[in-house]
Amino acid sequence: MLPMPALCWLCRLPLRVASHGLCSVCLRALPPLPILCPRCGLPAASSRVACGRCLQSPPVWQALICVSGYQPPLRRWVHQLKFSRITALRVMLARLLLLSWLHAHRTRGLRRPDLLLCVPLHKSRACRRGYNQAALLAQPLARWLGCEFCDGVRRRRRAAPQHRLPASQRRQNVRGAFRLEIDVRGRHIALIDDVVTTGHTVGEIGRILLAQGAASVQIWCLCRTL
Ligand SMILES: [Zn+2]
Ligand SMILES: [Zn+2]
Repeated sequence: MLPMPALCWLCRLPLRVASHGLCSVCLRALPPLPILCPRCGLPAASSRVACGRCLQSPPVWQALICVSGYQPPLRRWVHQLKFSRITALRVMLARLLLLSWLHAHRTRGLRRPDLLLCVPLHKSRACRRGYNQAALLAQPLARWLGCEFCDGVRRRRRAAPQHRLPASQRRQNVRGAFRLEIDVRGRHIALIDDVVTTGHTVGEIGRILLAQGAASVQIWCLCRTL
C-alpha cells in the first residue's frame, strides 16, 4: 500500500488531516451541483420532491445521490481511479461520496443503508484491471457507515460497454446481464457506481434487487451525467 501523501489533491498544499485528501478551501470550491431531483438525480425545480419525469415514469430505485456532474475535477479523478490503484485517491473520493450522503441524510432524511453493493465489471475486464473501482469506494464507506459490503452482484455475460452504444440500445444491452449471489430480502441497499449516465445499468440491478425482496435501493455515484 502506498503511503498517503499529505497534500491536497487540488492545490497541493499540506493537509491538516491526511486522509481527507482535499483541503477545506478546495472542498468548498468544487463545482456546485444544480438543484437535483432526489429520485432520479437529474436537474429539477426542487430537491425535495420528485420531478415531473419521475412522477410520469419513476426509476426503480428510491433515491440517487452524486458528488458532481461529469466534469472536472471529478471526471479526471474517476478516470485516474479506473487506471491507477492509488489508495489516497480512493479514500478521498469515498469521503466525497460520504459527505454527499450525509447531506441528503440530514436535509431530507435519506436512510442509512445496511448493505453496500457495487456494479460489477465483467470478469475479463476485472481480470485485466485487477480490481473494480466501485468496490474500492465501497470498502471504506462500509467501514465508516458501519454497514456490510458484499461483492454479491455478478455479470452473467459480457455486455458491450454502455458508453459505446446509442441510447436506444443501452437498456436492451443490460437486460438480463446480472445475477445476485446473496440474499437481499428486507435489506436497505446502496448500489455504488463511479459514473451514472442513462441509469440503465443501475436500473437493471435495482430491478433485480427489488424483485428479490430488497426493502429499498439507493444509487450512489461520484458523477451523474446531468
Ligand atoms: Zn486544496
Ligand atoms: Zn426525477
